Amino acid sequence: MNNLSGKVVVLTGGGGGIGRATAELLAKQGMKIVLLGGNNQEKLQQTQEVAAQYSDCLAIPGNLTDMGFLKQGIETATARFKGVDVLINNAGVAQNQPFEEISPDDFERIMAINFRVPFFLTQLALPYLKRSEQATIINVASVVSHAGYPMQSVYTASKHALLGWSKSLGAEYYKENIRVHAISPGGVYTDMVKISRPDLTADGMIMPEEIANIVLFFLANRGNAVVDEIMVHRVNKQPFLV
Ligand code: NAD
Repeated sequence: MNNLSGKVVVLTGGGGGIGRATAELLAKQGMKIVLLGGNNQEKLQQTQEVAAQYSDCLAIPGNLTDMGFLKQGIETATARFKGVDVLINNAGVAQNQPFEEISPDDFERIMAINFRVPFFLTQLALPYLKRSEQATIINVASVVSHAGYPMQSVYTASKHALLGWSKSLGAEYYKENIRVHAISPGGVYTDMVKISRPDLTADGMIMPEEIANIVLFFLANRGNAVVDEIMVHRVNKQPFLV
């Protein structure tokens, strides 16, 4: 098992379900946590308090879709912790609207947070990742990176884009010892699923802590065997169907 203590992780979407569970679990390993961006300051602060029980944790609230904020955020994080070893692109927004009602603003907002932000945040973090011996980028994609769900046209397109880019990124940077992983969950019991899938109940849903365990698996098992993407299904859904 890789020793993660003292390594620096920058995580987006830290105020939410998967982000909070991941921040807590990685802080328990002694990782230094940067919670980058959050449109709900109270939720971000709650996560910061949870993670700070175990390790150093810096919360930088703000709108991730603002390029200036991203740049400033990476500068603030690296000034405090002197580097970045792991970047987890986790923040995302869901959608539950008919295709013909999507406005250009909806389109821009969803594509921005789900795809443009990971893309350009990774560019900003890359100079620091290149200096790390354990450089890892984890993109939280979705089963909709593989399938088309009704009422989720832009969300689906954004997650296809995220997964496609993850593949290209991994192929481009593996020679520089940078690992790129994508996690594609089905329904996880967080605030998001209540918006995107109001038809689902908590019964049989994936828990955010289960996704956090997969993140830890990627980071702790850095050997010759590389899992590039992992799909994670709800227990009450037919396996092998997205
Ligand atoms: P969540 O709604 O609890 O968390 C999403 C987080 O993104 C929140 O902390 C929110 O503050 C942040 N965010 C959104 N827009 C932002 C912005 N403009 N600036 C800063 N922060 C912003 O949902 P979650 O389920 O924990 O989602 C985490 C990731 O998992 C997302 O990328 C989502 O697409 C993905 N995912 C979730 C599910 C599911 O069923 N919950 C399934 C597959 C994939």
